[in-house]
Amino acid sequence: MFDRFNRKLNYLRISVTDRCNLRCTYCMPEQGIRLFRHEDILSFDEIAGFTKTAVSNGVTKVRITGGEPLVRKGITVLVSMISEIKGIEDLSMTTNGTLLKQYAQELRTAGLHRVNISLDTIDREKFRAVTRTGDLNDVFEGINAAKNAGLFPVKINCVIKDSKDEEQARAVTGFCKDNDLEIRYIRQMDLVMGHFSIVDGGIGGDCLLCNRLRLTSNGKLKPCLFSNIEFDIRQLGFEKAIQLAAELKPECGSKNETGTFYNIGG
Ligand code: SAM
Ligand code: SF4
Repeated sequence: MFDRFNRKLNYLRISVTDRCNLRCTYCMPEQGIRLFRHEDILSFDEIAGFTKTAVSNGVTKVRITGGEPLVRKGITVLVSMISEIKGIEDLSMTTNGTLLKQYAQELRTAGLHRVNISLDTIDREKFRAVTRTGDLNDVFEGINAAKNAGLFPVKINCVIKDSKDEEQARAVTGFCKDNDLEIRYIRQMDLVMGHFSIVDGGIGGDCLLCNRLRLTSNGKLKPCLFSNIEFDIRQLGFEKAIQLAAELKPECGSKNETGTFYNIGG
């Protein structure tokens, strides 16, 4: 499927939960968040059904994200439901990695191809400070588990303030070189203020090349991370929501006051 600007939309990012076991300073407020009501969260059947419709409209690439996708109960069942859909060439997940030790092998067996793991620092105390609650060792173990399970290529998402030459980012770069990991640098953004930027090492953030649709865990289809526009897949039906999202995808977003990183999934 193509949008008005002749961009081919073939990439669906699905946020499966707004919950997370970490509280990264740039993503979630310290006092916690107002969570979606349980009944508003899409069921596995709804997510898989919607994905199937998206694939029949030309989506070939699917990423599962969150919140933290691995805190959604039964996540490996959902992965296997999605991986069974014919036409998906690339099925990936973005995760903070803390629970991968437990899930990596099951995810691979369920049909997940690869993972992106978020890692902004390799300093234990700084990791604790950024995530407010996390233990860096869990992420290291998660990275090893992903490699052992064959979730290749294992990519690292590193959030930077301004430049990949910052001290923490340089240390993560060295760690990735030593451990055969690909790295993407994501400039810290503010959706509400409209501060956004391109991802170094990927095509995220480049409007001309944007091929993405995003589904939130409460069923809103968003054609642009930096726009308030969204379509309710329960109210409109899957096909109509996809049609409208493709028709009305903005050429370039400006700001987003209706969503946040933890419920859209970046
Ligand atoms: N919990 C998972 C994780 O952290 O990888 C998946 C969801 S998280 C919202 C997806 C990505 O968004 C992560 O790589 C995270 O670093 C990034 N992210 C979160 N808040 C951000 C912000 N304000 N600016 C830029 N990237 C952000
Ligand atoms: Fe959780 Fe990911 Fe947001 Fe960190 S970036 S708080 S791990 S959703």
